[in-house]
Formats: sequence, structure tokens, C-alpha cells
Amino acid sequence: MEKQLKILPLIPLRGITIFPYMVMHFDVGREKSILALEDAMLNSQEIFLVAQKDAKVEEPSEDDIYTIGTVCTIKQILKLPGNTVRVLVEGINRAELANVTQQEPFFKAEINILEEAECAEDNKCEALMRAVKKAFDEYISLSGNMPNELLISTDDLESPGRLADVISSFLMLKGETKQELLEAHDAKDRLEKLTVVLRNEIDILKIERKIGVKVKSKIDKVQKEYYLREQLKAIQEELGEEDEDKKEITRYKNKINKAKLPKPVKEKALYELDRLKNSGSYSSEGGVIRTYLDWIIELPWNNLTEDNLDIKRAREVFEREHYGLEDVKDRIIEYLAVRKMSNSLKGPIICLVGPPGVGKTSIARSIANALNRNFVRMSLGGVRDEAEIRGHRKTYVGAIPGRVIYGMKQAKSKNPLFLLDEIDKMSNDFRGDPADALLEVLDAEQNSTFRDHYLELDFDLSQVLFITTANSLETIPRPLLDRMEVIEVSGYTYEEKFHIAKDHLIPKQLKEHNIEENKITFADSAIYNVIENYTRESGVRSLERKLGAVLRKTIAEMLEKDKENAHITASHVKKYLGPAIFTYDKIDKEDKIGVVMGMAWTGYGGDTLPVEVTVMQGDGKLELTGQLGDVMKESARAGYSYVRANAEKYGINPEFRKDKDVHIHVPEGAVPKDGPSAGVTIITGLVSALSSKKVKHNVAMTGEITLTGRVLPIGGLKEKCLAAYRAGIDTVIIPKDNEKDMLKIPKSIKSKLTFVLADKIDDVLQNALASEDYNGN
Ligand code: ADP
Repeated sequence: MEKQLKILPLIPLRGITIFPYMVMHFDVGREKSILALEDAMLNSQEIFLVAQKDAKVEEPSEDDIYTIGTVCTIKQILKLPGNTVRVLVEGINRAELANVTQQEPFFKAEINILEEAECAEDNKCEALMRAVKKAFDEYISLSGNMPNELLISTDDLESPGRLADVISSFLMLKGETKQELLEAHDAKDRLEKLTVVLRNEIDILKIERKIGVKVKSKIDKVQKEYYLREQLKAIQEELGEEDEDKKEITRYKNKINKAKLPKPVKEKALYELDRLKNSGSYSSEGGVIRTYLDWIIELPWNNLTEDNLDIKRAREVFEREHYGLEDVKDRIIEYLAVRKMSNSLKGPIICLVGPPGVGKTSIARSIANALNRNFVRMSLGGVRDEAEIRGHRKTYVGAIPGRVIYGMKQAKSKNPLFLLDEIDKMSNDFRGDPADALLEVLDAEQNSTFRDHYLELDFDLSQVLFITTANSLETIPRPLLDRMEVIEVSGYTYEEKFHIAKDHLIPKQLKEHNIEENKITFADSAIYNVIENYTRESGVRSLERKLGAVLRKTIAEMLEKDKENAHITASHVKKYLGPAIFTYDKIDKEDKIGVVMGMAWTGYGGDTLPVEVTVMQGDGKLELTGQLGDVMKESARAGYSYVRANAEKYGINPEFRKDKDVHIHVPEGAVPKDGPSAGVTIITGLVSALSSKKVKHNVAMTGEITLTGRVLPIGGLKEKCLAAYRAGIDTVIIPKDNEKDMLKIPKSIKSKLTFVLADKIDDVLQNALASEDYNGN
């Protein structure tokens, strides 16, 4: 290829690329560029135009411009107002910048003219030309804004390089892509690049068109509907009928007038109605306004039910609907009595705390019955966003009020009993703490003007009687807990469960299945069988379910066998529910070395916790296996250290680690257990195994232990004692500090157990190790 050198004035172009054969005009404003133009006009009228790498650079240096550009002839120059010049140029050749010879007052550069080379492979070039032409046709028909003459003019182009340049100059492309095409000196190369670019552009155009069609069809539909509705309106007017819109507005107006709304609420409602009138009820805005109006109209702004504060009647309702729960009932009666005297229900909020299924919800329902109030329940389990309590602003798509207002709508009165269930299961995240919103709801000082984000109106919650429930107090946010009066509802004994089943659950189930009470009867042994062998819980929820299952199977059998009556016995239960699901650890009948009965408290209530310790030849290893959680493992290690430190006192060889391994095993039960209260049990096991002294088989124990041998108090004493009693234990060793909790143990159980209060581990060992063996001091 021949090289031709030239020195020409240079103008850096911003945002445009000029190809050979292209005629185009552009405006020049920069002083330096105008001087370059003037110089060119004075000489050959040729100028070297080359694109800037970054169009934003105001004063480019040599490094800021590409090296390949186009030599152009200046056809015309037009002075515009304000020191700008419009210039018309025609591209002649590609050229490569060799050397900038002058920077000031304008750029001048030595350039190599790149002559167009012939295409070496004729056929290949021909094929590429055809492909490019075809793609260009498609591009034009898709883009729809190119003159058709273009097609004809490209048809006439015989030279491959020229074809590529002409087409490139018509495409709307990014600066870099154009520069790439310009830099492709070889014609074949250029055609190849151009094919790729064209294909890409075609794809983009196709997508654009698809989007366009979708948007258009949507707009068309809305327009069509609007048209039809307008027509309908005109027809209705002709016929003297009121149109639907007007009817709707009248309907809302009547409802608003009837709804006994407080003044500001009514004003807001009428204002929104006015907006509805203007927006047309078929617009999306209309939909939002209608939902809002429905909410306002349906809320019980002023509906009050009359309270029945008859304490005697309340007591009757409680007794009728619930078995036992004496202290809970007493506390609630006291609460109501105080409220009656002060003539208001303000005061701390009741929080019923206890395991699942012990009747928290149902006693709250009884309170509502006794007071003659409507009842609503809202679960706070899993609520983690303030907006769930307080609602989303109306501007949100699909916004609705928060759960409190939702509950009030369901309540249909302004003074219901509102049960907030599982207040301990609430959490929070970045969207705001729901507990804060709830504080406002529960705070008597603030809740007369509770503001929901959606309603944007004050709603008076001051006459609502809120009651909350929780499984445990630990996770209730402190500020909430401070406002509540905690009433504990603990688990039931077998006897209590039996009575609840007999007097409440079974009649309820029979009623639900539409069966007269005397048609199906349960033997007492059947009820006990379900309680003992098919449920393990503090409450009675699964007992209720299991009784329901037995009942359904009985009904099916009665129908199949055409029987009128049925009496369900323990063996029927076994037949219907299969083999026993839960069995309790029954105690050994004899004293053994290293086998100790502990007591545990799980989410399902109390349970026994047998611990086994063995000693074998070894080199001082401590092995822990079985059902041990992290806390229990730590207890085991602490116990081991205690025994090592005090070995001599218990008649154990202080050097026992030299030749002995110790293995502690906690057999896996049906329910996982963990917690620190196995401390005393583990130490007793260790002392027994290492000193070969037997442990009394009829003793169970519980207590946390310190490294100095002090016994610390534990939780769930009542449940643990129930479990021990069930297992056939007659003596329980409990921490001395738990003495006060003995009040909670039902008398029927307390009278059958001997209690030993332990302050130190020695108190435990003294009572747990078989007496002839014990010689600790
Ligand atoms: P919680 O709210 O504590 O989880 P629920 O109130 O849902 O428990 O009680 C579960 C079922 O047990 C209900 O059907 C309830 O009526 C019944 N129940 C619980 N305790 C008693 C009781 N002491 N007397 C009568 N029925 C009870």
C-alpha cells in the first residue's frame, strides 16, 4: 500500500465520526478549531478531522484524540451568531495521524493518507457485501425513519470499502463503534465488523418494537374503554338515566352520612369522595380512593357495646368454660373488680404467660364473654416490620392499613377485647421496630389518637381492652413488659388434663361432630391412655386433637357397622392411634452404681433425665455421649473438675486419672433436653462411679452447680416434679432457693413426694447415695 504524507490543520471532533464519502455539517465553537478552519480555507481547503476519545474534554491534547481520522474537503462555511461557525464537509480518505507538528494556535499534523485497498478475495467480499446489504434493508425497515432512496443508492455501490463507509455513516451508533469501523482499513475487515454491528442493531430494534407494541396495546385498551364509557354516559343521558359513576358517588355519600363518623373523619371522607368524582371511578386512582373510602366507612368509629361488669357472672363464665386455673381466674376477677370500682378499664395490660395449649387464648375469650365485649385476636408471631402494625402509606401500591386497624374493623366495635397473641415472638429488622409501634398502641396516654399510616386519621383505641399472651417472658421487649401485668398459666397435671378432657374437650368435640353426648362415651381409662401414651405436652392441644381423631374413627366404625352407640375404652384408643408414641422412663427397681435420675424441663413440659457414668481402664480421658446439648456438656466438664478437685473427700483416689477414663452418657429420649440443671445429677453419677457407691433408685434431682459445690436454683420446678412423680420417684432433691416455688406444685402431687432442699452438693450426695455407702463430709 502506498503511503502519502500530508500536513493539514486538524480539528478534534466531539461526539461525531466522519467517514469517507460522507457529506455532513457540524458546528464549530472552539477558538482553536475555528483558526484551523480558517487556515484550511486559506490553503487547500482540506482538513483532517479526528474524533476525541472523550467528548467531554474541553481542551484536548494529542493524547486525547484517536490516531485514525478522515481527511475532508470543506464545502461551505457559515458564520452563526455568537462566534460559532457551521461547516459543511465531505469525507475523502482515511488517514493516520503521524505527528502533531503544531499545537498552538491550532493543531497541525503530519498525516499518512490510507488509500483504499482493493479487496483481495473477490468472492468473499461479494458475499459479505450481499450480507451487509440485506442486513441494512432489514435495519431500515425496522427503524422506519430512513429515506428509501438510501436503499437504492447502496444498491449502486460496487466498491466494498465504499459500501461499508456509506452504510456506517447512516447508522446511529456509539462513538467507539463508529471509530472501530473507521479504523478498519481493510475493506473485508470493515464489512465483517459492519455485519456484526448491523445484526446487533437489528436485535435491539426488534426488542424496542416489541416493547412499543405492548405499550401501545395497553394505551389502546384504556382509550377504548374510556371511549365506550363516554358513549355509555351519553346514551344514559339521552335515556334520562343516571350514569354508574354518579350512582356510585351517591351511594358513597349515603354511606358516609349513615356511618356516624367523627367530624374530621367525615371531612376527609367527603374530600376523598370529591377526588373520586373528578378522577372517574374507572381510573386506577379511582380504585385506590374507593378502597380507602370502604375502610373509613367500615371502621367502628363510634360503635360501642355495653360492658357487663357483674363480677359474679364473670366468675360463673370462667368456671363454666375452664377447668382449674384457679389462681388465673382469681387474678382476672381481681383485675375486673378494680376496674369496676374505678369505672374504667385503664391500667396495666394483662399478659398471660405459659406453654402452648394451656388455655391462654381461650381464657381471654372467656373474659370477652364475661364482659360482653366483642373479641378479636391478632398474632404477633413473626411480625418484624413496623408497617405491619401501623400500615403503609396510601401512596404505596396495594397499601393497606396495619393489623391493629384491621383488627378493629373485624371487631365491629370501638371497645372490643383485643388479644395480642405471641408477643414474645415478635422480632425487628431494618424496617423499624414493631415493638415501638405496639408501645404506642398499648399506651393509655397515647392510644386515643393512634395514627395508622394508611388511614392518616386518628383512631381512638383508648376503650379497647388489650390482653397479650406469650410463651416466655425472656424475649418480650423490656419497655413492653414494663407496661404489663404478668399472669402465669402453667402446665397441667395428668389429673387436671383428665378433667379438662372429660368436662370440656370431649363435649366440645362431640358438639363439633354433631353427636349427642350420650351416644359416644369415653371410659376414664381411655382418656388416661391418650394422655399418658399419645401426648407429651404441658397444655392440652394435642390431647384435644388426639381425642378428635379417636372420635372420628369411632364414628366411621359406627357408620360402617350400623351401630347407634359406642363406648370407647383404652384398647379402642390403642387400636385407633396405634402403638404408644411416648413412654416415660420408668425407674429401676434397685440401686445401681453410676446411674442417676435427673429431672429436665423442655418446651413440652417436664421430663426425667437419666444419666449414666462408667469408669474404665484408660489414661484420664473424659468421654461424653448421647443427648447432651452444649450447656449440658459444659456442666459435665465443670462437674468432672469439681470431682477431681474434691476426690479425697468422697473417698476417690485423687490420682484416678492416671489409669482411668470416665464416660458420661445421657440416653437419647424422645425430646431433646439441654440446660444447666443437670449439674447435680452429673456430679452424683461421677462420685458414685468413681467411688463405687450405689445411687438410690427412688431419688430424682435437679440443680445447677458451681465449681465450689454450691447448688443454684432452676426453672420449671412444678413440671419437673410432675414428671418425676409419673416415673415412680418418691424423693426429689431440689435447690434450696427453689423452696418458694413449691407453692405452685399441686397438693395431690406434693403429698406423694418427699422433698429434700439442697444448698450444697454434699446435701445432694448425702441423700442420693445409698446410706450405708455414703461417707462424704
Ligand atoms: P394457648 O392459647 O395457651 O396456646 P388455647 O387457648 O388455644 O391455648 O387452648 C387450647 C385448647 O385447650 C382450647 O380448645 C381450650 O379451650 C382448651 N383448654 C385449655 N385449658 C383449658 C381449661 N383449663 N379448661 C378447659 N379447656 C381448656
